[in-house]
Amino acid sequence: MTTANPNFLKLQNNYLFADIARKVAAFKQAHPDRRVISLGIGDVTRPLTPAVVQALRLAVDDMSVADRFHGYGPEQGYAFLREAIVQNDYVARGVSLSADEVFVSDGAKPDVGNFQELFSQDSIVAVTDPVYPVYVDSNVMAGRAGEQQGQRWDRIVYLPCVKENDFVPDFPSVRPDIIYLCYPNNPTGTVLSRAALQGWVDYARREGCVILYDSAYEAFITDPDVPHSIYELEGAQEVAVEFRSFSKTAGFTGLRCAYTVVPKALKISDGKGGQVSLHAMWNRRQSTKYNGCPYIVQRAAEAVYSPQGRRELQDVIASYQRNAALLRGAAGGMGLDVHGGVNAPYIWVGVPRGLDSWGFFDRLLQQAGLVCTPGAGFGAAGEGYVRLTAFGTPADTEEALRRLRNLY
Ligand code: PLP
Repeated sequence: MTTANPNFLKLQNNYLFADIARKVAAFKQAHPDRRVISLGIGDVTRPLTPAVVQALRLAVDDMSVADRFHGYGPEQGYAFLREAIVQNDYVARGVSLSADEVFVSDGAKPDVGNFQELFSQDSIVAVTDPVYPVYVDSNVMAGRAGEQQGQRWDRIVYLPCVKENDFVPDFPSVRPDIIYLCYPNNPTGTVLSRAALQGWVDYARREGCVILYDSAYEAFITDPDVPHSIYELEGAQEVAVEFRSFSKTAGFTGLRCAYTVVPKALKISDGKGGQVSLHAMWNRRQSTKYNGCPYIVQRAAEAVYSPQGRRELQDVIASYQRNAALLRGAAGGMGLDVHGGVNAPYIWVGVPRGLDSWGFFDRLLQQAGLVCTPGAGFGAAGEGYVRLTAFGTPADTEEALRRLRNLY
C-alpha cells in the first residue's frame, strides 16, 4: 500500500474553528429563539464596491469576444496590475520596486503557505506566539517543525508577544533562518513601530535570516509611525519577502487576489558556498505549479486603485474601523484589558479574572449570544485573551455592544 507523508500525519485537525462551530450549533439548538452574533469570523461582510463590480463586468465582456478574450495569462500576473501595485502601494510611499518583483496570485494564504518550499528542510523557523496558524502548519507539513510538545513544536522558535513586552517580539536566543512577522497582527491587532521593525530588519541582515512579512491588514493602518510596507525600512529588500492581499482591503475574500513581493536583491545560500536569488526561485516555483490569477479578477483588483475605487474603499475600511473603535470602547468599559483595534480590524481582549479564554468564550455565548475566538487557539501565549473582529455589519456590531453592556 502507498504510504502517507508522515509529516502530514503529525498535524492534528484544526480543532479551533470546529470546536467553536460545535459549541455555537449546540447553543442554537438549545435556544432557537436567540440570534447569535459572531465577533469571531475573519471574513468581511461588506460587498464589493461599484468600481470593482464595474471592472469585473467589463472584463467578463472582454472574455466574450474573440479579440479581447484572455486564455492562460502570465503566471506572475498581468503587467497592468503589477504596474498599478508598484505605483500605488510602493512608489507612492517612496519605495522603489520594479513591477517584475511583484507576483500576483489568488491569495496570501497559499503564497505564505507555499513560500517555505524554497528553503532547505533543516531551516529553523521562528514565529510569534500567538500566531496565524498557516505559518506553523505549512512548516509541519514540510517536516521542519520537529515533534509536538503540548501546544508547541520542538524545532520551531517561538517569539512570545505578550503584554509584558508590549506585544513586540524580542530577538530569539537561537538564530532562526526564517522569521514570520505579521503586522498589523492577526490575532492581536497590534503593530510594530518603524523603529521596532527596523530593529528586525537589522537583526535579519546581521544574522543572515529571511523575514516573511505578512501585511494582509495594511489597509487598516492609521498611525503615521507605523510602516505600511517593510520596504520602507532601510535594507529590507535584502532580507524580506512581503505578502499582501486584496481580501481584507477590498472585500476579495471570495473573489481571490493577492500578491507577493520578492525583491531581486534578496539572496540566500545555495548550501555550496554560493548564493541564489529567491526571486528566481519563486518565479520558477510559480511557473511550474501555478497558472495565474484569472484575468477578470486582476481587472477587478486594478479598479481598487482607480480614483473611484479608492474613495469607495476608504468608506468600507472606515466602517470597519468604526466597528473596531466601538468594540474597543465597549471592552474597555467592561474593565477588560484591551489591545489592538486601532491599526487593525482585530481587538485582543484580556479575559476577566478567574476565567480562561474558553471560559470567557462560553460566558459570552451562553449569556449574550456572542461568538468570539479564544486566544488559546492561536498558541500558548494567547491563553487569557479572546479575539474580537470588526468585520461585522454596523447593525450587528451595535447589537453586540448592547448585549455586552447588559452583561456587565
Ligand atoms: N494572512 C493573514 C495574517 C490572514 O489573517 C489571512 C486571512 O485571514 C490571510 C493571510 C489570507 O489572505 P487571503 O484571503 O489573501 O488568502
